[in-house]
Amino acid sequence: MEIIKGKSAFAAIAVGKIAVYKKEDQPIKKRRTEDPEGEIARFRKAKEEAADQLQKLYEKALREVGEAGAMIFKAHQMMLDDGEYQDCVQHMIQTRKVNAEYAVGTAGEHFANIFAAMDDAYMKERAADIKDISERVIRNLIGKGRQDRDFTGPVIVVADDLAPSETVQLDKDKVLAFVTSRGSVYSHTAILARTMNIPAIVNTGIDLEQDLDGKEAAVDGVRGILYLDPTLEVLEEMKKRREEEQQKKELLLELRGKETVTLDGKRIKLYANIGSVSDIAGVLKNDASGIGLFRSEFLYLEKKDYPTEDEQLAAYKTVLENMGGKKVIIRTLDIGADKQIDYFHMEKEENPAMGCRAIRICLERKDIFKTQLRALYRASAFGNLSIMFPMIISVKEVDEILEIVEEVKNELREEGIAMGEAELGIMIETPAAVMVSDELAKKVDFFSIGTNDLTQYTLAIDRGNAKLDRYYDAHHPAVLRMIQMTVENAHKHGIRAGICGELASDMELTETFLAMGVDELSVAPSYILGLRKKIREIKIKA
Ligand code: PEP
Ligand code: MG
Repeated sequence: MEIIKGKSAFAAIAVGKIAVYKKEDQPIKKRRTEDPEGEIARFRKAKEEAADQLQKLYEKALREVGEAGAMIFKAHQMMLDDGEYQDCVQHMIQTRKVNAEYAVGTAGEHFANIFAAMDDAYMKERAADIKDISERVIRNLIGKGRQDRDFTGPVIVVADDLAPSETVQLDKDKVLAFVTSRGSVYSHTAILARTMNIPAIVNTGIDLEQDLDGKEAAVDGVRGILYLDPTLEVLEEMKKRREEEQQKKELLLELRGKETVTLDGKRIKLYANIGSVSDIAGVLKNDASGIGLFRSEFLYLEKKDYPTEDEQLAAYKTVLENMGGKKVIIRTLDIGADKQIDYFHMEKEENPAMGCRAIRICLERKDIFKTQLRALYRASAFGNLSIMFPMIISVKEVDEILEIVEEVKNELREEGIAMGEAELGIMIETPAAVMVSDELAKKVDFFSIGTNDLTQYTLAIDRGNAKLDRYYDAHHPAVLRMIQMTVENAHKHGIRAGICGELASDMELTETFLAMGVDELSVAPSYILGLRKKIREIKIKA
């Protein structure tokens, strides 16, 4: 047995076999073949496999995000079946006597260039799709399948590091745990693991060159330990602790339907953080009073192209309808920094955490922002929606946002589209926003404090840099005073202040937050009931 230590990102236990997740940047090698017919047969087989994979993805997306969101996989199936594309690959194999991988890659490039050169913006964007399907066929040819998404059974995913876009695309039903060699506990990948209720250890320094695929392992996410080839004794201990964990969870289930109220009668709104429609099951199971943060950017990260207004509407509507009238706070697109999306074609930045991210992108690229706002307002007819804007630093920005919101609402009214009421709020996650929170409070209906970024920007510590984890102290008095100031300014102007950053679930601070007057806490679904228990045991007034 080998013991590897890292840092706990989500404290739970898993036992199973390892599947190593490798990045996909293997260059395609050109080989000469003496058997073109054999290569063509390989291409046809890989193409059939790709068609099956796309059908499965279509069915999965249909269940999770509805027809509009699933259509992209139908479109990919049609492109894959296109006669010209197939003829081009087969012709190249036959005449140039090259291997199938090379022919598929070259044909993919060729068609992508044709699309990219078109005037029509929609057709231009299809270049990414044709590349995507070619890569899928190549992966099948190499024999690695769609390694990033299609694990054959439930596995412990071991990776060097996982970008948020890679994490969201993993098939969650087949992931027992995440273990990464690098990565910080404050990164969005760690946050995703917590939201999805998946045991996770980061920063283990594990060497991926060793033969890990298929190896038995045990993940102790509580202590941040990975056991390779665990002994019977370790397996027994894990089993016992997992049963204890399960019993604790079952006891907590008794708190479903109970109020989140302190001993002296203060009622707290206890909401859930989600990243996708599929997280709703956990929200309902754990009886959250609503959704305090839907990180809508994960809808964009899951995709190869901008989600359309209808695709977004389908996702937002599903969430609102499933929450049956409970509050749902959807945050507008917050990409940039560690959440990078290829199809946005953002310029490379020296310092992305302080660069063009979140609301800054939306105000620069109004078309993208307006598409999302249109989808949100159309969805507002189906439930209790609030819209929240990230990374605010000034009153001027909020004025600009409110103007765009009015523009969108007027357009929808003119089109005769039904809308509900939506409260508007902002995230307080920069020191600048805290310092002008008295002014900001006059403009919006609520504040939600993003302690992850607020800590990063207050302490000048990159939250994604694991080497700095020991300096990333969210309990720092400067951070706590910022929270206090925000809550006071919110209340002075009669609006609510909640916390939706990771600190909201830190039970060492629950009493402090309640004493400060925090109205709402929003946490990963699996933390809801434990926090409810804690709040019900607190007396704020001594
Ligand atoms: C935060 O910064 O605390 C927050 C909730 O937003 P994110 O973690 O997505 O940046
Ligand atoms: Mg943030």
